[in-house]
Amino acid sequence: MTITPPPISDTDIKAVRKYTEDVFAEALEKLSGLVSIPGIAWGAFDASELYRSADAVAGLLRKTEVFETVEILRSPTPQGPMGAPAVVATRKARNSRPTVLLYAHHDVQPPGADELWESEPFKTEIRNGRMYGRGAADDKAGVIAHIFAIRALRELTQNDFDLGLVVFIEGEEEAGSPSFANFLAEYKTKLQSDVIIVADSGNWSTEVPAITTTLRGLVSLEFEVRTLDHAVHSGMYGGAVPDAMLALTKILGSMWDENGEVSISDLISSDLVNLEYSEDQLREDSGLLGSTQPLGVGGILGRIWTKPALTLIGLDYPSVAMSSNTLVPSVRAKLSLRIAPGQVPSDALEALQAHILANNPMGAEIVFGAVELGKPFSLGESGWAKDLASRALNSAYGFESVDIGIGGSIPFIADLEAVFPGVQVLVTGVEDPDSRAHSPNESLDIETLRKAIIAQTLILLGGNQLQL
Ligand SMILES: [Zn+2]
Repeated sequence: MTITPPPISDTDIKAVRKYTEDVFAEALEKLSGLVSIPGIAWGAFDASELYRSADAVAGLLRKTEVFETVEILRSPTPQGPMGAPAVVATRKARNSRPTVLLYAHHDVQPPGADELWESEPFKTEIRNGRMYGRGAADDKAGVIAHIFAIRALRELTQNDFDLGLVVFIEGEEEAGSPSFANFLAEYKTKLQSDVIIVADSGNWSTEVPAITTTLRGLVSLEFEVRTLDHAVHSGMYGGAVPDAMLALTKILGSMWDENGEVSISDLISSDLVNLEYSEDQLREDSGLLGSTQPLGVGGILGRIWTKPALTLIGLDYPSVAMSSNTLVPSVRAKLSLRIAPGQVPSDALEALQAHILANNPMGAEIVFGAVELGKPFSLGESGWAKDLASRALNSAYGFESVDIGIGGSIPFIADLEAVFPGVQVLVTGVEDPDSRAHSPNESLDIETLRKAIIAQTLILLGGNQLQL
């Protein structure tokens, strides 16, 4: 059965705008309060700040007075130590309404070098319509957008709503979510939902909203190439005996075609992105040198979002300072392969290994080593939640929402999909191309926060009218 969300009424839009206007100064103040707590989930930083940060978030959630439970929870990491504190709030659905899980994270990246900041990292400052501070965008504005949308839902329904809510504010996303898989397993029942809205990504611009519908996955592979059983003098054997690096370069040379596209067979690749991104823009954003040609063919965003990309990221070989006139017998290399949405990581690994073995013209010995696999993500085409979210974004921003991709991964999305198969995961966010998340002078476009609260509230109001 297809469920069609009801259209968003003008009355609702007006009421949500009005409510957001009334509380917006408070939303910014609460955001500043969260930014002032430097909760960083890396071993070298004071873990007590993460507890202060979780407490502050839990306090804001309790004050909405809509939840049956608000708890601070932890799970152990696979290595043993406890993970960072997450905040989970729940309210059960009534009358066959859906349950929406709202995800964001309250931990932040370290500030980096102080002198690179124009204002203090943990004291917000507003300049030219942007709020500066570590976490102002990534992802404390996501936390605030969720909380103020819930407050708006409560206000506009007099707290008489049937939609089920789960709020899950993670505390270690920037540290790679080490206890996330265990956390999901342990608290699966609490987190059970029909739709997951992740507020930890960004929009196409401050004007044009977006839903992130694809993420590439990752396969990394270490391997060793050997041609000799010991090093020998290049003056005695050079010219007749191949060194390991020569054999490796032959293998590497076979992995890209003349256009710079990855030429490993059996890898999924598509070119479905229809947003424009020019070569000039690519050159400016990436710092590509004038004489260097970009890689690949077709639309540039397709090359970054929906096609594979292969990079040699590590090499164990004598450094220039330690070099001597020797035929080096072995070399160890690490390849990183970004895989397209839809690709099964273990299939891509097999294809990569098969390619290496089949394109080894010097007949070197190949020994495969450590492997890392990360699943890509692709939001299914259909689903009421995507329809509802697109409409809400259109209304709130006044521009048609676009589907965007990310060339990298968000590892916890794969964990969510594994534990909750079939659940629609809507990846949204408040960042824009100038947000500089993770860098000095991180900032939030203030109007984007206002529009994000409005859009999120419209999604919740729409969901509250849906019967599953
Ligand atoms: Zn984030």
